[in-house]
Amino acid sequence: MTDCLFCRIVAGEIPSTVVHETATTLAFRDIRPQASSHVLVIPKAHYADVAELAVADPGLAGEVLAAVAAVAEAEGLLKGGFRTIFNTGEHGGQEVAHVHAHVVGGAPLGPMLA
Ligand code: 5GP
Repeated sequence: MTDCLFCRIVAGEIPSTVVHETATTLAFRDIRPQASSHVLVIPKAHYADVAELAVADPGLAGEVLAAVAAVAEAEGLLKGGFRTIFNTGEHGGQEVAHVHAHVVGGAPLGPMLA
């Protein structure tokens, strides 16, 4: 999937600021942060969205969630709290078709659907 932006980040072809990495997941800062802490967590393997990932490899989906928790801890978000968002498909506003969790926090966030 060499035409996938996030696969190219995993391959090191596009630079990113990595904040956490495991054998199967990568977490890097969003290029257009929407909060003081805004990190994207992805599986290194290509799945289009969270629904596809959950059906194809629920174990890997769990590893992505574990990486979300590790990022929240590393970013100092556990005390104040944070938000995890999987935009999915056209109506969900997903722009990059490689499943990713947005982990945002660092200050009180507005209403979820604002
Ligand atoms: P989506 O709308 O698909 O849920 O979110 C995609 C996210 O990827 C956006 O928040 C956008 O800012 C981020 N993004 C797009 N291109 C790049 C890039 O080249 N590098 C990084 N680090 N983030 C990107």
